[in-house]
Amino acid sequence: MHAVPLWKKLLKQNFSSIEKLMDFLELDSENRDKVLLKSSFILNLPIRLAEKIEKNSLDDPIGRQFIPLKEENKVGEDCKEDPVNDCTFQLSPKLLQKYQSRSLLITTSACAMHCRYCFRRNYPYETSKSDFDFEIESIKKSFSQKEVILSGGDPLSLSNEKLRGLLKELESLESIQIIRFHTRFPIGIPERIDDELIEILGGLSKKVVFILHTNHPKELDDELKLRLSHLLEKKITLLNQTVLLKGVNDSVNILEELSWKLISLGVLPYYLHQLDPVKGGSHFKVTEEKGKEIISELKKRVPGYLVPKFVREIPGELSKTIIL
Ligand code: SF4
Repeated sequence: MHAVPLWKKLLKQNFSSIEKLMDFLELDSENRDKVLLKSSFILNLPIRLAEKIEKNSLDDPIGRQFIPLKEENKVGEDCKEDPVNDCTFQLSPKLLQKYQSRSLLITTSACAMHCRYCFRRNYPYETSKSDFDFEIESIKKSFSQKEVILSGGDPLSLSNEKLRGLLKELESLESIQIIRFHTRFPIGIPERIDDELIEILGGLSKKVVFILHTNHPKELDDELKLRLSHLLEKKITLLNQTVLLKGVNDSVNILEELSWKLISLGVLPYYLHQLDPVKGGSHFKVTEEKGKEIISELKKRVPGYLVPKFVREIPGELSKTIIL
């Protein structure tokens, strides 16, 4: 019998009780009053991220991303359950065909953490079927797909055994050149990038790209740097996407620091996303004008390759729309 990997043990220790988190963060009664005690999108927060949050504060940039607040109940006019119209691009609940040449697999509903602004927080995940037989067959039949994007949820929530099997099937698809992971998992539990995962990824014949999702320099640290260095040793390309979030990173100083810190970890800033108008996330909205100002100023401060593309997703468009 296999021993339970460290990352799974850490995942089990995540905060899921609001009461326990409020005690841990030493919130006073004024702050406790602002916390949302019940939500269908439950609290899920790794301990190492909780440890980075300033005590008795709801303004901490990490805390803001993960602590459910009553503000979530204010629904903005343009807010939707499915703000990017994922459901209209479903070939199955696990396969989205949004873009030419790229297929997107919803590999799992699970994540290492629950980000309150997540555009898939209301997505109707399929949990009854664990295989990807239909999805693999569909990609195979289309012949034209060059890249498979592993999304979710977070694809690194899958066990190494499950990932090994899935990647083996993707390896067998002739037209596929690139396997792309969209993941935030290592920010919460860097131990997820363990020896076995490195061995699996290093053994692939296809190009592997990781698009990390980090929003604030406080999320990056030495442990993450060490784990990412193992991916770089396997010639895996590391890019980052950030969501522009009010009270988290809507400042040029923070995005400048984020860009420098990312490159010191071997990661290139790729996208800065305008927030998708998801129900429950409208308190994170930053105007497009402010985003443009931030990017214009950022361009003066860092080399061009450290300026992320400022984009938003318009449902139905064949790629992200570049705002600036
Ligand atoms: S990790 Fe990604 S998919 Fe999961 S809740 Fe956060 S933003 Fe959403």
